[in-house]
Amino acid sequence: MSEAPNKRIAFKYAWSVDAEKYVKNADIKIVELKEESPEVEYVFRRFNTLIKIPVDRVQYINEEYLESPYIPYILPIMTLALSIIGDNRLLNRWAVIESKITQINLLSEEPEIIRKILSDKFNWQAYYINKTEKKTLLVNTGMNYDWKLRFEDFLTANYSFHDAYWKLNNQIVHNGNVLLTNQIFIRLVSEKVKLELASRKLVKPNLKELDKSFINSVEKLKIEWDELKKEAGFSEIQIQGPVRRDSFPPCIRDLLAKMLSGENIPHQGRFTLTSFLLNIGMEENEIIDLFKASPDFNEKLTRYQIAHIKGRDLNKPRYTPPSCKTLKTYGLCINIDDICGKISHPLKYYNITKRLVKKNR
Ligand code: SF4
Repeated sequence: MSEAPNKRIAFKYAWSVDAEKYVKNADIKIVELKEESPEVEYVFRRFNTLIKIPVDRVQYINEEYLESPYIPYILPIMTLALSIIGDNRLLNRWAVIESKITQINLLSEEPEIIRKILSDKFNWQAYYINKTEKKTLLVNTGMNYDWKLRFEDFLTANYSFHDAYWKLNNQIVHNGNVLLTNQIFIRLVSEKVKLELASRKLVKPNLKELDKSFINSVEKLKIEWDELKKEAGFSEIQIQGPVRRDSFPPCIRDLLAKMLSGENIPHQGRFTLTSFLLNIGMEENEIIDLFKASPDFNEKLTRYQIAHIKGRDLNKPRYTPPSCKTLKTYGLCINIDDICGKISHPLKYYNITKRLVKKNR
C-alpha cells in the first residue's frame, strides 16, 4: 500500500506527489465540482488575485495563498479550467506564478523536505551538504555550497535559462554532482516546476460531463483574463510605421511569434529581438507593448534593458543583434530560407528583403 500523503508538503506544493495522493485519497471527483465547492472557490479566487499582481511582487501575497488545505486541488482544477479556456498564454502565466510561489516557499523550507519532494516528483538526487564537507569544499573552491545535485538532473532544467552562467561547463562538478548554493538551487527547482506545469497538455474536456456552474466560473475567469489582456494591450499588438514585418528574417519571426503567444523566451532571445527591433527603428513603447505578452513581464526591467541596448545615441542603438553564426550557437537560428544562405546577419536579411518587397510592388 502506498504511503499516506505528507500534509505539510501537500498543503504547500500543488505540483508535489503528496498533493496528488491527497486528492486521490479525498475521493473527490474533480469533474463533479461546482462553482460553490470550497475547493473551486479557493483555487479561482487565488488565481484571480495572483494573475493581477506583477510577477516580481508575488512574494507580498496573502499567506493563505502560500499554504492551505485547498492547495492540493490547484493542479487538477486549474488543468481542467485551462483546458476549457485553451489559451497557452494563460497556461504559461499560471506556470510562472506557481513557480514563483514555489520559490518563496522553498526558501524557508527544511532541506530534508526539499530533498524528498524532488526525489518523489522528478526523481532528482539532491543532497544537502553537511558542515564538515562544506568546510572542505570552501577550502577547495572558495565557495560556500549548500547542495549537490546529480548533473543529469541539473540538465533537465538549466537549459531553460540560456544565460551563460547556467551552462554545465560553468559549474563546479564534483563526483558527478553539480555544486550549488541554496539560492541558485532553489531558483533551478522553481524553473523545473515552471517547465513541468507549462508543458501540460490542454485537452478540451467533454463539457457535457461537467457541472454547469463550474463551466460558468471558468467563463468568469476567461472574461477576467480577456480584460487583463485588453488592458495590457496584448490583443491589438501590431508593428506599425516604417517597420516592415514581412521582411523579418525567420529567426526574428520565430522569436516574435513566441513572444506574442506568451512563451517565456530566454535572455539571449529577448536581447536579439529587442536589439533587432530598435535597429530597424521601432519605437520604445511599441517594443514594450510586444513584451507585455511575456508571462513574467516587468515594465521597469524591460525599459531598463531597452535603454541599455539603445545607449545615448538616438540615431543608432549601442548594440546590434548577434550575427547568424552566434545565433546558431544559441539555437535561435531556425527555419532558414534561401536568403539566409546569402547573408551573415539578421539585419542584412531585413535590408535585402525590404528592398525586394519594395521593388516588387
Ligand atoms: S541564417 Fe541568420 S537571418 Fe537566417 S534565420 Fe538564421 S540567424 Fe536568422
